[in-house]
Amino acid sequence: MQKCEQLYEGKAKKVFLTDDPDILIVSYKDDATAFNGLKKGTIVGKGAINNRMTNLLFQKIEAEGVPTHFIQELNDRETAVRRVEIVPLEVIVRNVAAGSFSKRLGVEEGTVLAEPTIEFSYKNDELGDPLINSHFAKALQLATASEIKTIKDYAFKINEILKVEYLKAGLRLIDFKIEFGRFHGKIILADEISPDTCRLWDVESGEKMDKDRFRRDLGGVEDAYIQVAKRLGLEMESK
Ligand code: UDP
Repeated sequence: MQKCEQLYEGKAKKVFLTDDPDILIVSYKDDATAFNGLKKGTIVGKGAINNRMTNLLFQKIEAEGVPTHFIQELNDRETAVRRVEIVPLEVIVRNVAAGSFSKRLGVEEGTVLAEPTIEFSYKNDELGDPLINSHFAKALQLATASEIKTIKDYAFKINEILKVEYLKAGLRLIDFKIEFGRFHGKIILADEISPDTCRLWDVESGEKMDKDRFRRDLGGVEDAYIQVAKRLGLEMESK
């Protein structure tokens, strides 16, 4: 497989075409943004961590029966993935109240929810990814009823898989965001799963081990990302 020209550059990744029309190469950057791009920075080493962590978790998820876009890790930062048409929904699963959920609903951060819950945002930077529901998604033809059912089933199943994996690493999975794509008409998991897209709190201390350290200027951002990667069993250059 040959890497060809760049197709797209996003906030955290570059995407390249290959000589196979069904395969893209994603290249993870150290750039970090928050609040819809208003806050910008660099988290040194993040690209490699997010790449390797996503690949590890996607392989576990695939092994449990949820199809993903993962094909092959090429190097620290780059991975070959199936080329999908992204469903323009940010799918958020929550186990514990935090972030925008806490603000919007007046539920104190850290409140355990009676059951895992799901929400959809319309993936649109200009509009600031507004919250929608599955009826909106159907009415706006962002996804069909059957696709939405598959997405919900997969999202809750991924939550159960991730909760177990993170707990083994001494981390509580508070919430996370995932994205899906269509590959030859089938819904598969795409994008990434990393400390950029998950809230992870240390089981013992409750310390935040994710992008909230960057969003909220808590310091120790790089160390938190390295810790998460190491605890999941990824070999990292020691620091
Ligand atoms: N999230 C994300 N990208 C976004 C918005 C949210 O990866 O554009 C993740 C975020 O890291 C958290 C979860 O989705 O793990 C829920 O985020 P929330 O809606 O609470 O938004 P925030 O408080 O981050 O604005």
